Amino acid sequence: MTKTNRIYFDNAATTPLLPEVIAEINYIAENFYGNPSSIHSEGVRAKSYIEECRRSMADFIGCSPGQLFFTSCGTESNNMILHSAVRDYQVKSIISSPIEHSAILNVIEYLQSEYDLEVHWLRPNHYGNIDLNELETTLKIAAKPALVSLMHVNNELGSLLDLDAVSKLCKQYDALFHSDTVQSVGMYDVQTEKIGLDFICGSAHKLHGPKGVGFLYMSNPGLSKPFIHGGGQERKMRGGTENIIGIGAMTKAFNLWKLNREERKNQIINLNRHLRKRLMSLNKGIECNSDEQQSHPKILNVYIPEFTGIEMLLINLDIKGIAVSGGSACSSGAEKVSHVMEYIRPSEKGKNIRFSFSHLNTIAEIDQMVEALMTIL
Ligand code: PLP
Repeated sequence: MTKTNRIYFDNAATTPLLPEVIAEINYIAENFYGNPSSIHSEGVRAKSYIEECRRSMADFIGCSPGQLFFTSCGTESNNMILHSAVRDYQVKSIISSPIEHSAILNVIEYLQSEYDLEVHWLRPNHYGNIDLNELETTLKIAAKPALVSLMHVNNELGSLLDLDAVSKLCKQYDALFHSDTVQSVGMYDVQTEKIGLDFICGSAHKLHGPKGVGFLYMSNPGLSKPFIHGGGQERKMRGGTENIIGIGAMTKAFNLWKLNREERKNQIINLNRHLRKRLMSLNKGIECNSDEQQSHPKILNVYIPEFTGIEMLLINLDIKGIAVSGGSACSSGAEKVSHVMEYIRPSEKGKNIRFSFSHLNTIAEIDQMVEALMTIL
């Protein structure tokens, strides 16, 4: 199977590496092989390359380099943030939502079993959007200090959170604000300090970088104790020899987004609009699981009513050379209804499909996919 004869609409699960990023990986491998902790020239060269990347990434999200830590992925970053909030910032309550990624839900569940922690679950609407009035009511009653942990873009539905509005409420009620920005940072210009965020995180593989590398931002790193004890890397927060190839490739991937943001965003918006329009015109009872105005155009999740053979829908699309998702990446292959879709459409008999785009997709691919879908339906 070659890449060229496939249509890939699963960019919320992961994205293909860009040729420029692959070239950067080769460049780093050849030129920065020293251990960044060594004191000889090779080590110093590697260390200064990492710090150059840190400055670039910090600049990207509008914080100082001392507030940015490299990690192995978005999951690790979320773990570090939530653990640190409860353990080091002495947070007594967390306000979150049942449709967060499992990298949030399972950590909160664990922390609740280990600490005296109050957890408040908001009730997002059927498009996955948060009600700010409910958030405010909850902030009023939550034990202090409180942490609000709400994702910027939902990885299954695409629902978008108004970071500025939530940050304002958090300031008003003296709560910390964490947003899992794995699906958005880079595509959106998330300016941490300007918005007033306390924690965010990112993952390279969602933005055409490699898997196994991510980052987190903390507004007040001085309060956090080490997460991985070891050789003192990442300013003692996370011991272990740095993933220099991953860090450099992630920085390259993010900077490529910065250079081409408007063009790529417009391409993705056009793809989303075109698919919405085409699916609605099929008259098959297909419904969108997101509000166009309050969602990220990279994700279009739709509900297809029950018909004979619907269980095989994703497999049939795959056979026709088209990759889409029915749930989150973690559950793909397992064909199990995800916690998000269970919340949005409990016990519905039809199927939800998530189409997720990158700037590498084309309108012609969408038309081809719709033809394939029509044949199957
Ligand atoms: N948070 C969100 C919103 C995600 O979509 C994902 C990945 O799907 C993660 C966290 C986990 O990121 P990673 O795959 O880098 O661990």
